[in-house]
Amino acid sequence: MTDTSRHIPPTVYPSGLTLEELAALFPEEPLYRAKQIFKWISKGIESFDSMTNIPQPLRERLSERFDGHPISSNIEKQLVDEDGSLKLQIRLRDGAAVECVLLEDIEGRKTACLSSQVGCPMGCAFCKTGTLGFLRNLGADEILEQFHLLRRLRGFISNVVFMGMGEPLLNLENVRRAIALLSNHEGIGMSTRKITISTSGIVPGILDLAAHGPIVRLAVSLTSANPELRTHLMPVNKTWPLETLKSALLEYQRVTRDRITLEVVLIDTMNTSEHDAIALAEWIAPLKVQVNLIAWNPIEGMAFKTPSTAQVKQFAEILDHNGIVTIPRMNRGRGVMGACGQLGDTLKAQE
Ligand code: SAH
Ligand code: SF4
Repeated sequence: MTDTSRHIPPTVYPSGLTLEELAALFPEEPLYRAKQIFKWISKGIESFDSMTNIPQPLRERLSERFDGHPISSNIEKQLVDEDGSLKLQIRLRDGAAVECVLLEDIEGRKTACLSSQVGCPMGCAFCKTGTLGFLRNLGADEILEQFHLLRRLRGFISNVVFMGMGEPLLNLENVRRAIALLSNHEGIGMSTRKITISTSGIVPGILDLAAHGPIVRLAVSLTSANPELRTHLMPVNKTWPLETLKSALLEYQRVTRDRITLEVVLIDTMNTSEHDAIALAEWIAPLKVQVNLIAWNPIEGMAFKTPSTAQVKQFAEILDHNGIVTIPRMNRGRGVMGACGQLGDTLKAQE
């Protein structure tokens, strides 16, 4: 008998395997067994022994193959904000660390904010993760494991946003696999409409998504429509300038017919003036978007200033007068430094 398991890298943990790949691990077993195992793995079980409808010898083989544990990551630290948001620092099997957050809104809807990379190579001037540098991409198994660990502690999760550490469109292969696993009806079964990818503006990644899917909600961190200022704050603007980005967004919108979210981090005296708001509205004109205004979350050692609530409100009003929908940003998680852009405070700078 050929050993099909050879085709699966031994470092991939079961949370990152498709149903077909799990089935290929045990070619002599009937397909319904693989489905049963896939369901268990999708529940994020702590031990192979929990697989009560799987024969003991098969549970043992699984255990041997995956070093005794269905999940390879460990929770190193848990921080709970006074608003209930939960941030986890997670130690990965190679010793690297990432963070993820569970945010709960007023209606009780739970959103997992997941990391896609260890650190981030994009170097945005206002972002904590950007100061860590880039270590490596996360595998789909490591992305799913964040989801499982958050769900173990907080129960049913309705939404996923790739707004944790890293640039998801620079790790598209693994993020794609993670989305396929999250949305598989034999497993977690989350609608792709409930999944958001947030990107700093990686144009080839946006076009790749538009051409090949999956059709998920897209959020783009724009922050400024002024080319010089955007380049200063977000170096990605040198490689894919505002106009190139706009063309890609128009293409994404043509294919998906969906409203894109633009994230604008407001930093006092940098991009909060009336002039900035009008320039933004003009840039947006051909697009169908909603704008997420985010008051910059303070980060120790950074000389930026958070704008006042009144400033944010005024900025929103100008957009509103220009027919642009703004949505209030969840500031939840601030107390545990779990709000977006603050991930990484518990981690040492990566070499
Ligand atoms: N790398 C992706 C996703 C992770 S960052 C991206 O940049 O889109 C998630 C969001 O946090 C982005 O919109 C980013 O602009 C924002 N952000 C980064 N640092 C921040 C800070 N200090 N305060 C508020 N938002 C911040
Ligand atoms: Fe990376 Fe996003 Fe932070 Fe920019 S804002 S450094 S892309 S995580």
